Amino acid sequence: MARTCTQSTIEKLDALGWFPNFPASPAWAVSAFWDAQHSRPMSYERERRMCLELGIAPPPPMIYAPACEDCGSVHTGRCNGIDNPVVIVKRQRPAKPAWVIEATANLAALLEARQ
Ligand SMILES: [Zn+2]
Repeated sequence: MARTCTQSTIEKLDALGWFPNFPASPAWAVSAFWDAQHSRPMSYERERRMCLELGIAPPPPMIYAPACEDCGSVHTGRCNGIDNPVVIVKRQRPAKPAWVIEATANLAALLEARQ
């Protein structure tokens, strides 16, 4: 089934009444307004542009994420059926090898000595 306008946007359109500023508005916006109120197919982007044209808040953006293979909900990674599975692990910065630390110190000492 094709996507249609969200219910919250339709309620905002109903509150506006008939298409505001009708003769001066672009035809695409009037067409989108009609389609929204008659459950015709409407993409998210078209709905967003129509809302901006009419000065009403567009619906929040849709972010598609795959469902978890274990529980079917949306979260980071797989949960293996464990509750509260979201774990954000910050990658550790690898330690510098000893020779890099020593070489950097030697270079700094040389630069200090030249001044
Ligand atoms: Zn899960």
